[in-house]
Amino acid sequence: MTVKDTQMLIKDMMKRLYEDDTFLPEENGDARERFFQSGTEILTTTDKVIKSYIRVSRDNREIERIPAYRVQHNNIAGFYKGGIRFNEHVNEEEVENLAVLMTLKNALHDLPYGGAKGGVVVSPNQYSTRELNMISKKYVQRFAPDIGPTHDIPAPDMGTNEETMDWMVGEFKTIHPGNNYMGAFTGKSVANGGAQGRREATGRGVYHSYLWLADSWASNVKEEEVPEGVHRQQLRSLHRVRNKNESGEPITAAVQGFGNVGSVAAQMADSCSRLNHRITAVSDHQVTLVNESGLDVDRLIKYQEKHRELPVSEELLSRIGVKADILPPEELVYQKVDVLFLAAVEDQITADNKELIHADIFVEGANAPIDKEADRYLHEQGKVVIPDVLANAGGVMVSYIEWKQDRVTYLYSEEEVLKDMTDHMSKSCEKVFDSYFREGLSGIRNTCYMHALKRLFTLLYRHGKLF
Ligand code: NAD
Repeated sequence: MTVKDTQMLIKDMMKRLYEDDTFLPEENGDARERFFQSGTEILTTTDKVIKSYIRVSRDNREIERIPAYRVQHNNIAGFYKGGIRFNEHVNEEEVENLAVLMTLKNALHDLPYGGAKGGVVVSPNQYSTRELNMISKKYVQRFAPDIGPTHDIPAPDMGTNEETMDWMVGEFKTIHPGNNYMGAFTGKSVANGGAQGRREATGRGVYHSYLWLADSWASNVKEEEVPEGVHRQQLRSLHRVRNKNESGEPITAAVQGFGNVGSVAAQMADSCSRLNHRITAVSDHQVTLVNESGLDVDRLIKYQEKHRELPVSEELLSRIGVKADILPPEELVYQKVDVLFLAAVEDQITADNKELIHADIFVEGANAPIDKEADRYLHEQGKVVIPDVLANAGGVMVSYIEWKQDRVTYLYSEEEVLKDMTDHMSKSCEKVFDSYFREGLSGIRNTCYMHALKRLFTLLYRHGKLF
């Protein structure tokens, strides 16, 4: 999905909201039209795009000039919030789209944050720790006036982690002596004020959104309770997966991306006591590993934690005792499985390959892994897509807990953190799936956008911004 696609979807949903006379019934006629025009304009316009260059001296003494971004989309619901991505494909349009998605995600889950995102055009595994430390500190130096615990609060994303956040908060403290600094970044290490369980939170939340729909929700809903057509087909897909489980046959699953989000989602699925899965394929940027009888996920995770990648050869696989065929990374999405967890990068299922995909249920751990046309196609086929803004919010939910604990200097236990996150995720899922399946809206993603936009529009209206 491009930023234009996301903006188009916002416009479509705002039009529906305008036509829904049960929403804001006190405003009608010309005033209603003006308010909605103004609200649509605000929500499809980004507040601020900042581009800078980071100069870094490499270990070989060469000087490199690296583009870096911070995009702040909207803060009507609270301080700007969103991760910083280190990746060679980062560009301004991608960062802007991710910032808009953060505004929608935070609004959908009723978090008191707006949306932002950051990015640096760098491939982290080609840089030494010293070089990455310098890039992280310089990022903070460049963007310091626009970051802060009550203004814009970054967190880790692809290619960054708790170490990056620790370096960044350290630099922020140096630049702003005497100011509150702990809440300026979330996703820090626990030793440095981070929340217990933050690293696993996104992957756990991704799995929880799927478990909640396929198990808790679908088991309580009968076909005749949902509108005919696509909705029934989707409910049948969910029931088919559940029936498989009840008959003792494992649910097959594949996981694209075996980093922070994907490896945790894979582990949760593999060890789940409520639904029995067989993980038959996982991938990263170098390989897809396939075993129809099931992969040894725990051993792969141990290897990945040590080497930051999956084993890429027969020899490495046999050294860790894992049996698997080795295929190119792009093969993962074509696997014949019931559930596909997409936890790598954008645009993996597109207009070009949509007809070659076999799974029935798709869970978007990554942001925007399915493009607009493929999304529409999968929906029409009666497949179930749990969208990014719903599924991958576990990280920002726990970031909120971290930000709160940094304000009161209290450390929540890991149990408290994970319970808070899963309760919060269940509440959001119930809101979305209930209104989607029972009211017959067109697409789970549209339903998520509708809930988010209702909140954002109401705040814009109450703050007197719509004239
Ligand atoms: P990560 O850097 O820890 O892992 C990314 C993984 O994807 C790696 O295994 C990498 O090898 C793999 N990958 C990259 N390109 C690939 C390709 N073309 N095909 C297959 N695999 C590929 O990143 P992460 O934190 O796990 O983030 C993954 C996705 O989840 C990103 O889209 C990110 O924006 C999204 N996300 C992350 C968080 C979070 O808290 N980390 C929160 C919300 C959303």
